[in-house]
Amino acid sequence: MKKASIIKFSILISIAAIFFYSFKYDSKSTNSNKPKKVIFIIGDGMGLAQISGVMSIFDGRKSFERFPVIGLMKTHSSDNYITDSGAGATVFSIGEKTYNGAIGVDKNEKAKENLFEKLKKKNWATGVVVTSSITHATPACFYAHAASRSSAEDIAEFLLQGNCDIAVGGGMQYFTNRKDKRNLFAELQAKGFVTTSDTTSNFIPQNSSKYIYTLAADGMKKILQGRGDFLKQASLNAIQNLSKNKNGYMLMIEGSQIDWGGHENNYEYMKTELLDLNDVINAVLDEAQKRDDLLVVVTSDHETGGLALNADTKDKKKFIGNYSTKGHSGIMVPVFAFGPGANEFAGVYENTEIFFKFKKLLNLK
Ligand code: MG
Ligand code: ZN
Repeated sequence: MKKASIIKFSILISIAAIFFYSFKYDSKSTNSNKPKKVIFIIGDGMGLAQISGVMSIFDGRKSFERFPVIGLMKTHSSDNYITDSGAGATVFSIGEKTYNGAIGVDKNEKAKENLFEKLKKKNWATGVVVTSSITHATPACFYAHAASRSSAEDIAEFLLQGNCDIAVGGGMQYFTNRKDKRNLFAELQAKGFVTTSDTTSNFIPQNSSKYIYTLAADGMKKILQGRGDFLKQASLNAIQNLSKNKNGYMLMIEGSQIDWGGHENNYEYMKTELLDLNDVINAVLDEAQKRDDLLVVVTSDHETGGLALNADTKDKKKFIGNYSTKGHSGIMVPVFAFGPGANEFAGVYENTEIFFKFKKLLNLK
């Protein structure tokens, strides 16, 4: 080919690529505005093998394929190649690697200002919706500071500080059945929070800007035990209420039990929990597609189970999920981003970067 026709050909290819890109991903999916709303979704223990395996035999709507920007994140903690969920979520909320088991504190056990505390200085609304206890490691890192993830009763007290407007999940026992006999629900109500400890229903919709719901004594039921669409309903309800704050909001949604299925090396448990999160992500992306100020970021704190997708010797079109550990593994995890600022999340980076990307995009000090 002559030089001129090579150039013409290249231009043609570029135009075709741009056309394809804009056809598949409209401008809302990557615009360069600053986000006014952030939904951060964590699939605890959700690595690429979990996503690949479950999605490869799923006929429904695959939320992960709706994201225009993908990154890869290194998950190691300050003291361990393999992180736990305490260090794995603390790094998102304070931007520093810390020791396994830490909740919102650095490697010297010093409390560091977290994202929610920074957002409160700008009068943003904040919330967490999870399928574990609301005091469990992942959500706790967003509103509490504790040297150890096991001090759930101390972690619960941090909600009284008001840096987290909405918290929904399990964990009633840490509020009303405490060693110190305090009734944290009564104390939260005195501060204007609506509370419930109704463990008989999956979710009771709420129309309030501040509510703390614990719908189970500890973790929520599994999908396999009939949790239904709790996570989706509770997330959409939180979004509706947080949206009333005109400054902006940040909501962390966690598919907590993908990790628990991994620890049990129970593929069916993991799969049903991941499919539940897939539903939630689809619903959140439907919201994001209606507007141009909502950034959605989906990732994991680490992979759980060292899952491999091996060939099924009987049927070569199928696979068998084989686990290599009852614990976590050190493989990188994917990051998916949609909306204003999404492009920031492309590339390969340390888990500390998630915090700094949010900090930059949200103009936090
Ligand atoms: Mg978790
Ligand atoms: Zn775990």
